[in-house]
Amino acid sequence: MNLTLHLTGACNMDCAYCTQEKKPVTMTKEILHAACALAFSEGQHAGFCFFGGEPLLCEDLIFEAMDLCAARSAETGKRVYYRMTTNGTLLSDRMIARAADEGMEIGISFDGTMQDICRRYKNGAGSFADTESAAKRLLAAMPRTTAMMTVAPQAAAHYAEAVRYLYELGFRNIHAVPAYGQKVSWDAEALDRMKAQLTEIAAFYSECLRADDPYYFSPIETKIRHLLSRTHPSDHCHLGTGQMPVAPDGKIYACNQFIGDAAYCLGDVFSGISRKKCAELMLRQAVPETCRSCTLRSRCLHSCGCLNRLETGDPSKVSAVHCAYEKMLIYLADETAERLYESDRARFDRYFKGKEAD
Ligand code: SF4
Ligand code: SF4
Repeated sequence: MNLTLHLTGACNMDCAYCTQEKKPVTMTKEILHAACALAFSEGQHAGFCFFGGEPLLCEDLIFEAMDLCAARSAETGKRVYYRMTTNGTLLSDRMIARAADEGMEIGISFDGTMQDICRRYKNGAGSFADTESAAKRLLAAMPRTTAMMTVAPQAAAHYAEAVRYLYELGFRNIHAVPAYGQKVSWDAEALDRMKAQLTEIAAFYSECLRADDPYYFSPIETKIRHLLSRTHPSDHCHLGTGQMPVAPDGKIYACNQFIGDAAYCLGDVFSGISRKKCAELMLRQAVPETCRSCTLRSRCLHSCGCLNRLETGDPSKVSAVHCAYEKMLIYLADETAERLYESDRARFDRYFKGKEAD
């Protein structure tokens, strides 16, 4: 079973677009132990994502979880996988060494050269220097580390420059999303800026691929890969069936945005997960009414209940901003794929399909 452990509701930063309600609560050892036991209780493996707030405020709990899981793994013969999403500013060399040893996948929240526009400490100071230093140490130990970018309207004009900076620093996995939620406001001009920057990034993405030093850039590459494999983006979003979040108090929810909402609570680490509740959630209408006759429906991530709720307050309602962004990405991904295919079919097939052209 895969669990996301929200070890704490606290964070040492105060990012302008943060969607988390900060609370000075930390998971107890008792809850951590029960969560580990639950993850090993079903399925062929156990998966943990250490999350917060900022999970490295609870570094000792992470080490304790890994010690516990190593013992459980030896007992049960089940493999254990780890991931962590962190702002990186509290990353110790001890944690990097252990993470590298355990094969932990780390996503460091880093907006590159846009960092200090939104990602600031509580005292207002920018976090660029500390995050860059952590990123360099992580990349040296784990070259496949992911940079997790969030693009706010006030920083969008620097998006392409920020992607180039992260690439030059050594990142070959870049995951990027627009800032969503009540703290940001995307108007038509900001969306135009986003589109112009994404066009520039798509050109850089193609240039790197042609130079045989490609990087994964999530907004464009996932759309191309979904198209080629004929998979629906929403297939990856299953409320209450995939990666389930465990709140610091041990309650388990359907997805991150639903933490604290009793209607989406699936159980807790002591009593387990209510399969009846999961089945009820599975039956919910996944396709928003406004999307049912849209020709882009099969290409669009319109049914992410978590994101919809963050944007509109309703898991079944898509915001105009998200709709505009999805349309922008589909158009750009198709244009990028077509150009790459036309210019070098063999390279395109090798990269996207893992085979030589006929
Ligand atoms: S580091 Fe993450 S949790 Fe902390 S303030 Fe920033 S976005 Fe929020
Ligand atoms: S593009 Fe807009 S209307 Fe079409 S499926 Fe996506 S969110 Fe819905």
